[in-house]
Amino acid sequence: MANTLNVSQALKAPGQVFPFSATIEVADADVFGETVRFSPAEATGTLLGAGETVSVRGELRCEAAMACARCLRPVAVPLRVEIDERFSRRTEGAEDDGETRAIVDSCIDLTDCARELLVLELPMRVLCSEDCKGLCPVCGADRNEVSCTCLEDAQSASEGTERPDDEEGRFAGEVTNPFSALKAMINSDEEV
Ligand SMILES: [Zn+2]
Ligand SMILES: [Zn+2]
Repeated sequence: MANTLNVSQALKAPGQVFPFSATIEVADADVFGETVRFSPAEATGTLLGAGETVSVRGELRCEAAMACARCLRPVAVPLRVEIDERFSRRTEGAEDDGETRAIVDSCIDLTDCARELLVLELPMRVLCSEDCKGLCPVCGADRNEVSCTCLEDAQSASEGTERPDDEEGRFAGEVTNPFSALKAMINSDEEV
């Protein structure tokens, strides 16, 4: 089975730390209409058994492909997240809280936790470059490649009114990632 790790050593020797490394295939994630692709994630860290449970600590490295918020071209986003998860042979009554995951046949499956951790780590927005000119909101042309005059035309037609982009250089209709807000909500829930 892919993405699983045999933890029988850690179960047999409680209190002893075992280093591990694994490559985890992470399925695409739909982030509100945008499909984010992940490269295989490299997980490294330690396993620590304590009777019926095994704690997994370490880190996960991977690269996500997200669309530039302005021109929608793919941008490679390096991700690095901490893993601190507990797996248990006894899961009755513990499955609802989502804090303890199951050990099945002395194996743990890192697929779900890796995907959850990586999705939460995705940035709000990415740009292919700081000075990406984006798509023209009028004709839809990639203004990095085509220099249309739609915006200039609109600006001179509405002299003295609001500029089409604000001081930060954001463009109308820019895509943002709502998961950072979600992450904030989850974190505040944990503190309750
Ligand atoms: Zn761009
Ligand atoms: Zn245009």
